[in-house]
Parts: sequence; C-alpha cells; structure tokens
Amino acid sequence: MSDFEIIDPRFREMVLPNAPLERLADGFRWLEGPAWFADLQCLLFSDIPNDRIMRWTATGGVSVFREPSRFANGHTRDCEGRLIGCLHGGRSIVRTELDGRITTLVDRYGGKRLNSPNDVVVKSDGTIWFSDPPYGIQTDYEGGRRESELPASLYRFDPRDGSLTVVADDFAGPNGLCFSPDEKRLFVTETGLQFDPSSKRCIRVFDVAGDGRSIRDGRDFFKVSPGDADGIRCDEDGNVWASAGDGVHCIAPDGNLLGRVRVPCTVSNLCFGDRHRSRLFLCASQSLYAIWVNRRGAQWP
Ligand code: MG
Repeated sequence: MSDFEIIDPRFREMVLPNAPLERLADGFRWLEGPAWFADLQCLLFSDIPNDRIMRWTATGGVSVFREPSRFANGHTRDCEGRLIGCLHGGRSIVRTELDGRITTLVDRYGGKRLNSPNDVVVKSDGTIWFSDPPYGIQTDYEGGRRESELPASLYRFDPRDGSLTVVADDFAGPNGLCFSPDEKRLFVTETGLQFDPSSKRCIRVFDVAGDGRSIRDGRDFFKVSPGDADGIRCDEDGNVWASAGDGVHCIAPDGNLLGRVRVPCTVSNLCFGDRHRSRLFLCASQSLYAIWVNRRGAQWP
C-alpha cells in the first residue's frame, strides 16, 4: 500500500506511488529543526531533550554534530549558507560561522530576554524571521524552566544593522514558518498554549507588505487534524507541506487539502533536501524518516 493518501486529484502527480517511506534512524527523544546542506550532502537536525544536534548522511548514517547544543530547536541556512539556529537554552538566535565559531545574533528585545526561539526562516534579502513562544522555558525537558519576560511574538531580525522588530504579536504560540516562493505570503503555525489543549491551533497566512519588512491581514489558512501543524515548508509551486499527528499534510495555496503522507507517529518538522530538493526529510517523534516526492522545495531548507 502506498504511503500517500490522495485527497485532491492534483496530489496524484505530486507524489510517487512507488516511493516508500524510509526510516533512516531512530532512538532519539524528540526530533526537530531539520536543515539540508547540499554542499555537504548531509542533514542536520535537533534532538532537543538530549541537548544535541545530529547529522545524517546517506553513506555515514547518523553522528553527533554538536553536543551540548544549548537545546537547539529550529534551523535554516542564510544566503551565504551559514547555519542559523534557535536555542531554547540560550534563549537566542545564533549563527555558525564558516570557521565554526558561534555568533549570538540576538537574545533580547527592548532589554528583556527572549523566551525560547522555536523556528526560523531567512528571506532572500538576508533578514531572519523567527518565532518566540515560551515552550522551551515552561519545562526542564526541552531547555529549563524560567520566567517569561516577553509575550510570544514573531520577529524580524536584520543582521546588517542589528535591528529587531516585532512583526506579529497576536499569537499564543507562534511556531513554524515559511514564505511562499514569491515571498508575498508568510505562513505561520499557531500551536497555542502548551498546557491548554482547547487553545486555538492552526496554520495562519499573512500578506507581506510592499516594503518586504512587515506583514498584514493575518487569517486562518488551514487546520490539520489529527494533531497540530508544527513545522511547515513550501514547495516550488507554493503548496504548503505541514507536519501533523499522522504524518505530513499537503495544502494547496487555495487552502484545500491535497493529500497526506502517512507516518506511524507524530511529525514535528520537515524540510526538502537531497537531489534537486525533492526528498522530504521528516523529524518524527523519536525517528528520522524520508520520502521522495515529485515536487521540489521552494527555498532554503
Ligand atoms: Mg517548532
């Protein structure tokens, strides 16, 4: 039986009926933050409760990339290929330089400490957009319990001048984010209050203002079920591939569900990678999975 579920006929040509879901590795605690490095043919991803960043290669399997990681969560790459990471422990956004040094880019807003940056994306102008919910400071499991000093917000950081701007603050828990391929829309997942299952959870979409620096007209885009969308990525046509409780859901730009990739556990995050960015890597609870699809990722993984 195929690991794909076709819901809208448009999904049929987006997937490969003979491509199986592959479990690449397991034995982790909770995976997140995948980022593909085509130049090194490797995937980096976070094992948050184990306080480490892992590396997977097709030839070498899995190894530890960085430990301790200060409870690293979301990752991406900037326009120069450098690793950009969210740290729960450091309550910061950091950049790994090409010589291996780690630079803290931002850890405060208005003199107050960030909560626990969760996920991050880099726009083509080099600005770094990230979510800052309190999940990493509400328990000792994924960082350490500490006081929140700021409301949960979505931020834009400009590394050229060091400016940090709140672009949205009407979230209980902003989480994964990605731009549409033309960068005219920004998708952000709302995963609500950690200990209140009745709080609102859905994927929201915003229009990016003409200046490219702010967003407006936030509205609900799609609610996955079962579970919640945590990490999301757009493909080359603007379809949104979203993590969910039963795998990955693919949603068309018009907001209709096209189909699903079935995974036997909760998926937290995903990214495109490998040949032509047409392989989906899935951080799924205690395991790392992958599956080839017939679409390419839109942007930096
Ligand atoms: Mg996340």
